[in-house]
Amino acid sequence: MANLTTITPIDYLKGVGTQKADVLKKELAIFTIGDLLQYYPFRYIDRTQFHKIKDIHPDMIGAQVLGRLSHIKEVGQKRGKRLVAQFRDETGVIELVWFQSITWLRKGLKEGAAYIIYGKPSSFNGQLSITHPEMELYQSQEKKIGNLTMQPVYSSTEKLKKFSLETRGIQKLQQSALELLYNGLQETMPEHIIADHNLMSHQKAVLAIHFPQSVQDLNAAIQRLKFEELFFIQLRLLHNKQLNTSKYKGHRFDKVGEKFNTFFQERIPFPLTNAQKRVIKEIRLDTNTGAQMNRLVQGDVGSGKTVVALMSMLLAIDNGYQACMMAPTEILAQQHYAGIRELLGEGLASVKLLTGSTGAKERRLIHQELEEGSLDILIGTHALIEDKVKFKNIGFVVIDEQHRFGVEQRAKLWRKNVIPPHMLVMTATPIPRTLAMTMYGDLDISVIDELPAGRKPIKTVHFFENQRLRSFGLMREEIAKGRQIYLVYPLIKESEKMDLLYLEAGLENLQREFPAPKYHISIVHGKMSVKEKDFEMQRFIKGETQIMVATTVIEVGVNVPNASVMIIENSERFGLSQLHQLRGRVGRGAEQSYCILMSSNKLSKEGRTRLETMVRTNDGFEIAEVDLELRGPGDISGTQQSGVLDMKIANLASDQAILTRARQTVIQLFKEDPQLLEHKNQLLKLFLHRQNSGITWDKIS
Ligand code: ADP
Ligand code: MG
Repeated sequence: MANLTTITPIDYLKGVGTQKADVLKKELAIFTIGDLLQYYPFRYIDRTQFHKIKDIHPDMIGAQVLGRLSHIKEVGQKRGKRLVAQFRDETGVIELVWFQSITWLRKGLKEGAAYIIYGKPSSFNGQLSITHPEMELYQSQEKKIGNLTMQPVYSSTEKLKKFSLETRGIQKLQQSALELLYNGLQETMPEHIIADHNLMSHQKAVLAIHFPQSVQDLNAAIQRLKFEELFFIQLRLLHNKQLNTSKYKGHRFDKVGEKFNTFFQERIPFPLTNAQKRVIKEIRLDTNTGAQMNRLVQGDVGSGKTVVALMSMLLAIDNGYQACMMAPTEILAQQHYAGIRELLGEGLASVKLLTGSTGAKERRLIHQELEEGSLDILIGTHALIEDKVKFKNIGFVVIDEQHRFGVEQRAKLWRKNVIPPHMLVMTATPIPRTLAMTMYGDLDISVIDELPAGRKPIKTVHFFENQRLRSFGLMREEIAKGRQIYLVYPLIKESEKMDLLYLEAGLENLQREFPAPKYHISIVHGKMSVKEKDFEMQRFIKGETQIMVATTVIEVGVNVPNASVMIIENSERFGLSQLHQLRGRVGRGAEQSYCILMSSNKLSKEGRTRLETMVRTNDGFEIAEVDLELRGPGDISGTQQSGVLDMKIANLASDQAILTRARQTVIQLFKEDPQLLEHKNQLLKLFLHRQNSGITWDKIS
């Protein structure tokens, strides 16, 4: 085994037999020695801090004790069977308890030996105990490299433990890997970047992350490895972005023509906000470079994305192209169609709607007009993607609410012309900056961070159940003014039956308070057919009903400017971004709007934070940041597919500063040396070469 490298299969490492190799692969996806070295500890125990048993109390999160193990015995029968032992230091004694893997554990424990244990203390009938503590023989400390004050802890699983691959076992493997490989560990980043950012070397950092010699040593290693990880992600993304622009020719919109100008000067019913102007300008510049545009527009609900899309499409038409706009649901497509026709007025451009329910005759006509080129703008749902839909010359595609569409669907739109059309993706789900930089790091991003003037901020209040009468009062007042009201119930798969009961009970109550014929109520929920849902929504949209009781199906994009109150039942059960989306259904007209968050009295700490955040701010970006902090990136929509969760050490919620620095570094790098031709950057060129990356568009989601 003379020439071990990071890509040597894990099977070849000393101490790893076939069986261990198998579990490492299956449980931890460790296939090579390099993978092992990248399996970092998830936390460290400060070995300088021991608790005395007399100071231990059940409120502590964790206690670390140096003491001696005695009186190991099994007690109880069958399911109640457990292993208990005493653990003693010079100040007292505590009980250790195990419920699982008893037989196997018992073999390993040494009566009378000194151990360092760590775990969460608890108290039962006045007896202090620690259940399933982390255990380590005290003497084994000395066998490790150096004298570690910060003791790494690796996460493990039951299966791994069966093969002695808990913290100690994994550490042994790390030790033999490093003994063999340390001198061969190559620097991964160019010297000039390391110097600029004052980073620890790669080699030292890998050693220190597994065997830290001091707290400072460990911190420097963590900083270095986080920076490295984020740097390479950004390098790949920004490199792909560069490739895309050089690879895909784009239609050149080199004039701002008559239709755009007529619309802007004569038809537009309101002054554009500065944010809208800025984004339109960004799009204009982008579509005149000769390269294909891939731009994401983020803008909170009500920020006015539609008119931006429309003006971009007019730009395309002025330059001799067709445009289309795709929405995720039929209702949204209809609303876009109606809204855009109203904005446009007569004569400027021809617009048609194509959805699943478009009749055969109309459909044929649309197909024909598209191919002839007499139809300028097509608005619709997935129906647009079908192969039968062929354009004479499509130059611009708008996709609304992008996260509902899959990769394949977008790719199909790309192929609707020889040169792919420019793509404008619009989302009303604000994504925290750090996530956007990573999930959409290879797209250009525009942000509409300003609401149209004169819009009154929505007033949000949080009511407990016993304040329900106040919410009824507000509802009556608003209906008396001619306004409409949404009332939303959670309907969640796991608790669907209960949820439906709540909904029915709530509805009964509501019908008593708001009886026909004075009041009319629409009901929309996921158990209804598309037709029924549409019918009920249309009644509300037309103003035939004053109250719409719904489950979250109304979440996306529906626009009823006359609706002024959003009441969310059991609001503590909704996620922040969902609450914000729902609230965005109101506040679309000039009138004061309200959002009432109803909740039970029992709130978790997190639930409370969510509701307080909603009451405090209307800013979607601020809310998204809180959401990221509360839940981590794993629960934010779209992250699953984007790979941002596969990070080994960096964390997008807590490492924003490092990420920003890494991205800036890469941007600067490409500015100075776009082709990475300079000698000092060869390492990076090699990295990208090895990545052999596919086309990035496929990764956008
Ligand atoms: P969203 O970004 O949520 O898609 P819309 O495009 O539907 O928002 O716009 C919401 C409402 O605001 C629409 O009624 C639209 O006509 C109006 N609107 C858009 N831009 C402006 C503006 N600059 N000034 C006033 N009203 C505007
Ligand atoms: Mg919209």
